[in-house]
Amino acid sequence: MTHPTHPTTRTYWLEHAWLDTNVEPGVALEVSGGRITAVRTEVDTPPPGAEILRGLTLPGLANAHSHAFHRALRGTVQVGSGTFWTWREFMYSFADQLTPDTYHDLARAVYAEMALAGITAVGEFHYVHHAHGGTPYADPNAMGEALIAAASEAGIRITLLDTAYFSSGFGQPPNHHQLRFSDGSADAWAERCSLLKERDHARIGAAIHSVRAVPARELATVARWAEERRAPLHVHLSEQTAENDACRAAHDCTPTQLLADHGVLGPRTTGVHNTHLTDEDIALLGRSGTGTCMCPTTERDLADGIGPAVALQRAGSPLSLGSDSHAVIDLLEEARAMELNERLRTRTRGHWTAAALLRAASADGHAALGWDEAGSITAGALADFTTIALDSVRTAGPVPRLGAETAVFAATAADVRHTVVGGRHVVRDGVHALVPDVPQALAQAVEALRA
Ligand SMILES: [Zn+2]
Repeated sequence: MTHPTHPTTRTYWLEHAWLDTNVEPGVALEVSGGRITAVRTEVDTPPPGAEILRGLTLPGLANAHSHAFHRALRGTVQVGSGTFWTWREFMYSFADQLTPDTYHDLARAVYAEMALAGITAVGEFHYVHHAHGGTPYADPNAMGEALIAAASEAGIRITLLDTAYFSSGFGQPPNHHQLRFSDGSADAWAERCSLLKERDHARIGAAIHSVRAVPARELATVARWAEERRAPLHVHLSEQTAENDACRAAHDCTPTQLLADHGVLGPRTTGVHNTHLTDEDIALLGRSGTGTCMCPTTERDLADGIGPAVALQRAGSPLSLGSDSHAVIDLLEEARAMELNERLRTRTRGHWTAAALLRAASADGHAALGWDEAGSITAGALADFTTIALDSVRTAGPVPRLGAETAVFAATAADVRHTVVGGRHVVRDGVHALVPDVPQALAQAVEALRA
């Protein structure tokens, strides 16, 4: 069905399009009211007045796990050695500097960088809620609202995964950095989150920072809040073996088992990382339909280890991808890294097809964020898509029929030419339409935190 009188009705002609299973040359999309209303194939020449997108157009990419402020650590944090835990101390020094204004400016620039990378929806795992010492802002959601506004100004969708965080470890109060993260209890967390309103570009979900940060007796309250709203619920899970050891010492079970015992697992729940799991953990996650968000560029940057993504998927856990600490923001790199990590570990190739990796980067990532109606170039879907150049120094050569393989295994974020979100052309010919100078915006926002 088309709406020819709708003011935002537009026709796009895609030189090549990824239609979930294959590359199709010459595709016309009708877009109206922010949705794709018709997909026509075998359209050899652009219809009159159509917007022409040269290259391979993919469904918009979903960045299912982000901490926007970690972008300020890029480069700086690569000096020296250490572990995840020493990295975390450095990360906290940046968290200490954030205010609603500085966080807004940084997130706007980071989300603009994401749009330039073809990302149309971000899952922001947000835990810096309060002012220093844990004092609430006049608007107790001032920080979350800053992130929602930042996404709007950068032209992308956001699922604000408002994160519960009450302890520094099992039975331990939050440390002086973590006071900003804590509402004190899950009931207080729920009361604050309930004030957040969804918008056209913004959905509200929940997160449990980790089993370290949310005491077992509080887990069910967070899970129930998400269940009542049918909202996504995310949780950092077994990223580090030290978390597993501490959980066993406190509860005599794995973090996955603890989450299962308190009603946290299920098809709207996503475990982030899922790195150090037992066979029983994998079975629990798979049987419950709990998703897995892999963040390969962060996991390798933080020396976490390689999670059992193949086994998780086989057990029934859908896979999504996230740039997490933003060591780089490039969902194509996340997709190929998941496959290439597995090749290094097993010394065999071909664990996922390019199609399966694109599905993790788009449809399944969107579903993990509660945007089930995005992530596919089909009639009725949200008009969120991105075009990858097939004529750059990285992508020239292969036949267009292999465009998906080229995009996943050779292209980078620098090859993204167009990004359209809800029918709005946010990135055109590699230039952001709403944030005129994204590198400068990033530099200024990061500098403000260093000052
Ligand atoms: Zn994370």
